[in-house]
Amino acid sequence: MSKKVPHRLYLSEEQMPKQWYNLRADMPNKPEPMLNPATLEPLKEEDLYPIFCEELARQEMDNTTRYIDIPEEIQDFYKMYRPSPLIRAYNLEKTLNTPAKIYYKFEGNNTSGSHKLNSAIAQAYYAKKQGLKGLTTETGAGQWGTALSEACAYYNLDLTVYMVKVSYEQKPFRKTVMETFGAQVIPSPSNTTKVGSEILEKDPNTGGSLGCAISEAVEKAVTTPGYRYVLGSVLNQVLLHQSIIGLESKIALEMLDEYPDIVIGCAGGGSNLGGLIAPFMQDKLTGKASPRIVAVEPVSCPSLTRGRYVYDFCDTGKVTPLAKMYTLGSNFIPSPDHAGGLRYHGMAPIISKLYHDGYLEAVAVEQTKVFEAAVMFAKQETILPAPESAHAIRVAIDEAIKCRETGEAKTILFGLTGTGYFDMTAYNSYLSNTMKTYIPSDEDLERGFSQIPKVDL
Ligand SMILES: *Cc1c(COP(=O)(O)O)cnc(C)c1O
Repeated sequence: MSKKVPHRLYLSEEQMPKQWYNLRADMPNKPEPMLNPATLEPLKEEDLYPIFCEELARQEMDNTTRYIDIPEEIQDFYKMYRPSPLIRAYNLEKTLNTPAKIYYKFEGNNTSGSHKLNSAIAQAYYAKKQGLKGLTTETGAGQWGTALSEACAYYNLDLTVYMVKVSYEQKPFRKTVMETFGAQVIPSPSNTTKVGSEILEKDPNTGGSLGCAISEAVEKAVTTPGYRYVLGSVLNQVLLHQSIIGLESKIALEMLDEYPDIVIGCAGGGSNLGGLIAPFMQDKLTGKASPRIVAVEPVSCPSLTRGRYVYDFCDTGKVTPLAKMYTLGSNFIPSPDHAGGLRYHGMAPIISKLYHDGYLEAVAVEQTKVFEAAVMFAKQETILPAPESAHAIRVAIDEAIKCRETGEAKTILFGLTGTGYFDMTAYNSYLSNTMKTYIPSDEDLERGFSQIPKVDL
């Protein structure tokens, strides 16, 4: 029998990490460098200065510094909503009748309802320090836009958010939250940019995509003096900031004398996953432990499980640098039937490299199964999960059921990235049995692959 542990474990402020952990420092094979799309040469730090602020460009390129100090101002901001609790899912375990011990790290305790504030505040801090006037970004479901709105309000920075049009229409209240924090929210594609106008001309009824919103935000940033662009996932710097999730989890588990056999995270662009797994992956890379590490993605946007590991654009408009990653092609747009988030066509280069080298597994799940898990979790644990987070819940439940069958008392840790209050359209379609799971055919995927630039020979 395992000793009874508290339902919710919070670290004290003194125990909170004072440094982020840079996983790249321990990777034997580093992620491939980004390429300049014009010359196909590896980017230099200075090449990034027109797009990102300088300190973030430095973090983006830094493959060697293992620990990076979290500036005190950011530590103080973190203390407004962190540490986030590590929760033992006793009720879920009981319902599943499993010998497994299920822990989850809950990142939904702030207005963005997600982990995204961890990086938003860092990016706003460095922008302010550099004396910038404002930032631009894109948002899909709205969590990143909300997080960055909170951060920009705190530092008195202007913010323009390009919001994927389907989400803008499905989640009007998300827009109002961002506006409450002072952001300007524009549905994407829009006529406010050249790239947006071109996309609209070709397809006036498009619901937009994250890749397209990124193109617009980048164009706006590089054409507006004193502005820079920020991204809420995929980039090395974002995974660095999100390492706070894994570092806190590891300290809390140590206090309980626990170590996970399996670490599970949902994967959109790969930032929460990269953050949650960071210190456990460090143990794996350095031979200290060998937890299974599992990335969960939707079958409708299967970048890891069915994508290609090649150089590709990070956006639909092909204005960003090229990154080597698992990708479905930058013009891939998931079916409008897909309501469950995690819609990005690519995957963080760090996660892509680790997956390619065999350090992590990937599973693709159907959205009706995801919502089934979401509803079960909500009833047992009283938290209404974001559909994105429910991908991780699904696989945690499946692993716990396997433990019931084999009698093994494994320790499972998963990331509960956020809450789903703005996803009631999706919940409603699940509850009314009208939700469909769309699985792209090989021909559908081929259309995306055919647009990938021919860089990898
Ligand atoms: C953005 C988001 C995700 C997916 O993004 P990653 O960069 O893959 O972490 C997952 N869950 C929630 C709640 C989100 O807001």
